[in-house]
Amino acid sequence: MTQPQSWEARADEYSLYGFTDLPSVQKRGAVVLTHGEGPYVVDVNGRRYLDANSGLWNMVAGFDHKGLAEAAKAQYDRFPGYHAFFGRMSDQTVMLSEKLVEVSPFARGKVFYTNSGSEANDTMVKMLWFLHASEGKPQRRKILTRWNAYHGVTAVSASMTGKPYNEVFGLPLPGFIHLTCPHFWRYGEAGETEEQFTARLARELEEVIQREGADTIAGFFAEPVQGAGGVIPPSAGYFQAVLPILKKYDIPMIADEVITGFGRTGHTWGNQTYDFVPDAIISSKNLTAGLFPMGAVILGPELADRVQAAVEKIEEFPHGFTASGHPVGCAIALKAIDVVMNEGLAQNVVDLAPRFEAGLKRLAQNPNIGEYRGVGFMWALEAVRDKASKTPFEGHLSVSERIANTCTDLGLICRPLGQSIVLCPPFILTEAQMDEMFDKLEQALTRVF
Ligand code: PLP
Repeated sequence: MTQPQSWEARADEYSLYGFTDLPSVQKRGAVVLTHGEGPYVVDVNGRRYLDANSGLWNMVAGFDHKGLAEAAKAQYDRFPGYHAFFGRMSDQTVMLSEKLVEVSPFARGKVFYTNSGSEANDTMVKMLWFLHASEGKPQRRKILTRWNAYHGVTAVSASMTGKPYNEVFGLPLPGFIHLTCPHFWRYGEAGETEEQFTARLARELEEVIQREGADTIAGFFAEPVQGAGGVIPPSAGYFQAVLPILKKYDIPMIADEVITGFGRTGHTWGNQTYDFVPDAIISSKNLTAGLFPMGAVILGPELADRVQAAVEKIEEFPHGFTASGHPVGCAIALKAIDVVMNEGLAQNVVDLAPRFEAGLKRLAQNPNIGEYRGVGFMWALEAVRDKASKTPFEGHLSVSERIANTCTDLGLICRPLGQSIVLCPPFILTEAQMDEMFDKLEQALTRVF
């Protein structure tokens, strides 16, 4: 078989790209990478890019952390695999479960492992369906989420995701209900204060519960900060308004911390940053600092007891993945948690967050940037055609895509999401590297606008 000449052409020939703007990638070619150096990645042509996307939010310790690679190798050498978390598991898996409960907001709990965040959300939904059916309420199946939420790509987690693109798959499945996204800047009404907006969303939640019937609802899922929706922190007091309503109707609250877990918001969990305690946590991505595909469902004490009682009734929870609790993944996760918490990475997020905000505040003076928003090391700039009216740009190749492509040409990787440019660099970023990120972004904004 003949080999086309370039890596880019070969990538194009054999790849069915996901979540990729095809005209852009066809025009500029895929970026084919060979290795990384700290927060930089290097392509087959020797070009270096500062990755302000952390891979896909997950490479929080950068691309060449020796300790993480050594932890992986040590476990591959010692005991490379065991199957499925079916009553047999590695010592690493036991230690990681203990660690996850220890660092969680829960006094005690139970952990279930998956290979991804999507599967962890899927698993949690199945757990809730299983639990309610076991408690004599099989009709409690509806799932509440919000518009702009991102919970994954499996049929269930995509149904939870509040993005119109899922219509191409005929999703959401019935019974997945999306509430208003808590983005005050975009969805607040004329004359409404942020507090009034939050109160309106809380009222909407209660109305939906009453309309649908609390005894038909299985659970409520929310990211503490919506990530792939374009980095949307909740409106002021949002979780404090919503949680009592969920409690009143005995609806479990699940925090999807796939992005916000392990330091991204400046605390171990986003729920700490926004001061609430969920009933369960979904974790992935940062859990292994991106070095192993792994997800986890962490049940708090009440759900852990109820699910355990349901399992005991039929003597089995009929669910699990071949690689659930993979020893190498667990060894890497144990090391990753240690690295993030004890090697100064989480602290760096806290220390540099004000500089991050100040840099974006300056860039947001551009007349075509409507808003900058974020927390910790997850931020976004939102492009608008008209700042005063917040009117977005139209067109298939959105302006954010053009900004991101220009950044790539300049040696900076950032992510266009809707009309937003998202910045979520590795936690090891230095001040100088942060300034480099802003310089390149500023050049890109100047070229595009
Ligand atoms: N939940 C959230 C909040 C996410 O951001 C993502 C992925 O970006 C997922 C779930 C899905 O995780 P995965 O891509 O590992 O399936």
